Amino acid sequence: MSENHKPLVVITGASSGIGAATAKLFSENGHPLLLLARRVDRLDALGLPNVICAQVDVTDRDAVKEAVKDAEEQFGPVDCMVNNAGVMLLGFLADQSPDEWDKMLSVNVMGVLNGVNAVLKPMVQRQGGTIINVSSVAGRKTFPNHVVYCGTKFAVHAITENLREEIAASNVRLTTIAPGAVETELLSHTTDENIKSGYEDWKTAMDGIISAEDVARSVYFAYSQPQSVCIREIVLAKTTQQ
Ligand code: NDP
Repeated sequence: MSENHKPLVVITGASSGIGAATAKLFSENGHPLLLLARRVDRLDALGLPNVICAQVDVTDRDAVKEAVKDAEEQFGPVDCMVNNAGVMLLGFLADQSPDEWDKMLSVNVMGVLNGVNAVLKPMVQRQGGTIINVSSVAGRKTFPNHVVYCGTKFAVHAITENLREEIAASNVRLTTIAPGAVETELLSHTTDENIKSGYEDWKTAMDGIISAEDVARSVYFAYSQPQSVCIREIVLAKTTQQ
């Protein structure tokens, strides 16, 4: 364990966007971190102290678990797991490749469950800890061309809230963070250029959207409450977003 006495925080999908901003904020507040993503060079480039950067695909359940175990040997038990990694491949369902459905379901749903799996039992045994799952406003209402993405985010909402109820007596907290549109790389993976440009027009009509740092502050706010207070859900978006 380093001289830093704050507990270990794990963040998935920390190589860009919300995950990277969240990593910086937790680091500024003195936490050792385990950062997971496939682009490990981007994790290293954050240049944060007391950090283990691991090249892990969140769909690989054993790899997530192994990385958490290794980090705990160095920094002690995980106190907060932020399941943030996600992909958004917008499409008109009849035209979209089912491979894109597979990808969203495996990263956005199974990836979250794999992160939960890596920390849940020890947190319940220790009677403490926090799991924060990044969902979306698209986990509360539907949007055009979002059929599978919304399906995955409704699932994240349901899984997080139902697990919170299931283990409330163990003093483990579960939080859903549900941002509206955020300026990150997320849209860039959508393959349909018409949908992409329509999304960009929607952003312009709102006079821009919130930043990854705006969301990171919500994640940190939820975590930094006393363990006896569980922020169950935060929904945040640009004020001009309907
Ligand atoms: P980015 O595309 O900037 O970041 C996504 C992150 O997820 C990257 O670090 C990426 O890392 C990681 N990731 C993707 N697939 C995998 C995988 N298989 N294994 C490990 N890591 C993976 O987008 P955001 O920061 O916007 O997205 C973060 C979360 O916020 C997502 O869950 C997204 O759905 C949610 N969200 C985003 C909104 C937005 O408008 N931007 C709105 C609401 C919610 P790498 O490619 O290196 O593996």
